[in-house]
Amino acid sequence: MKAAVVHQFRAPLSVEDVPVPEPGPEQVLVRVEASGLCHTDVHAAHGDWPVKPEPPFVPGHEAVGIVERLGEGNAHGLEVGMRVAVPWLGYACGDCRFCNSGRETLCEAQQNTGYSVDGGFAEYVVGWARHVVLVPDGVDPADAAPLTCAGVTTYKAVKESGCTSASRIAVFGVGGLGHMAVQYARITGAEVIAVDLNDARLETARELGASHTINPRTQDPVAAIQALGGADAAIATAVSPKAFEQALGSLARGGTLVCVGLPADNEMGLPIFETVLGGLTVKGSIVGTHQDLVEVFALHRRGLTRVERSEVALEDVNEAIAAMLDGSAGTARTVFRIAPDATTDQSAPAAAGAAS
Ligand SMILES: [Zn+2]
Ligand SMILES: [Zn+2]
Repeated sequence: MKAAVVHQFRAPLSVEDVPVPEPGPEQVLVRVEASGLCHTDVHAAHGDWPVKPEPPFVPGHEAVGIVERLGEGNAHGLEVGMRVAVPWLGYACGDCRFCNSGRETLCEAQQNTGYSVDGGFAEYVVGWARHVVLVPDGVDPADAAPLTCAGVTTYKAVKESGCTSASRIAVFGVGGLGHMAVQYARITGAEVIAVDLNDARLETARELGASHTINPRTQDPVAAIQALGGADAAIATAVSPKAFEQALGSLARGGTLVCVGLPADNEMGLPIFETVLGGLTVKGSIVGTHQDLVEVFALHRRGLTRVERSEVALEDVNEAIAAMLDGSAGTARTVFRIAPDATTDQSAPAAAGAAS
C-alpha cells in the first residue's frame, strides 16, 4: 500500500510502498478514504516535542475510512463495511482511574495514532476497535477527517470553558482548530469574539458566527475585549505564547482560559496578582473522548457545523505541509483524499477564502 513515511526528523516525508498492516486482537483494518493534516503531524515529523515518535513511522490522526477486516477477539460492535474515524487517542487501557471516570484522554497507557503507532497518511490504517468512532451516514468522509481532531479538540475545549448562552467567549487563533471552536461556541448561544492576525480567517470566523473580530496587528485585543466587558472564557489555539497571555488578559473576573494550542515556545507569563484577585482559572484541554467525537459527528450531521477544508493528493504531502506552515494553504484544513468513493459531497463549502 501507499504511505507517507517519516524516516528522519525534519526530512521530507517519503511516499512509498509499504506492507498493509495486520489488525491484532481487538483491532480493525481500515481502508482510508480521507485523512486530515494537523499541526501535530508536523511536530511529529520534526520531533519537536519532549516525547518523540520513533522513525520510521506514518503520521496522521484524522483518518476516516471503511472497516475492511476485524482482528481476533471483541470487535466492540464493529462490522466490515462500517465507516469509522481513527483518532489521536488510538488506545487507552480502560482500567485506570482516568479511563474509568470519562477521562480516557488522560490515560497514562495511551497509544497515539500517527505518533506512537502508525497513522492515517496511508491507504490502510489499523485502529483499536474500542477507540475508533462510527461516522454516521450523511457525513462526508472529507469533513469527518478534520472533525476527528480539529473538531473534537475544540468541541471539548468549549465544554471545558463552561460557556453558556449568557457567556462571552474569545477564540484566539481561528485557523484549522479555531474556526471549529468559533462554531461550537456559537452553538452554545454565547457571544463569540474571534482574534487572529489573518483578516481572511477573521472574515470566515464572522461567517461562522463570531460577532466581533479583532486583528492584533491593528487593535490591542486585551483592551478591545475588556472594553466589551471582558471574556468569561478564552480558548487559545494560537501558536505563540503571546496570544495565550493576551487571552488571559482578556478575561473578565471569574473567567477561564482554556489552553489548546501547543506552541513550540513552551512558556507563557502568568501574572499571579491578577489571577488571584480575578479568581481566574487556567486549564489545559487535550483532544476529546470517544463520546465527544460521537457528539461532534452528530452536530455535523444536523448541519450545525461547517468544515473549511481543501483536498490534496497524498503524493503532495510535503507541499501541503509547507503550505500549512507558511500560511499559504487555501483553507483552514487540508485533507488527503486517499480512496475516493461514491459518497455525495453534500457539505463541501466553497473555499470561502479562509486562511491565505
Ligand atoms: Zn491533531
Ligand atoms: Zn487508562
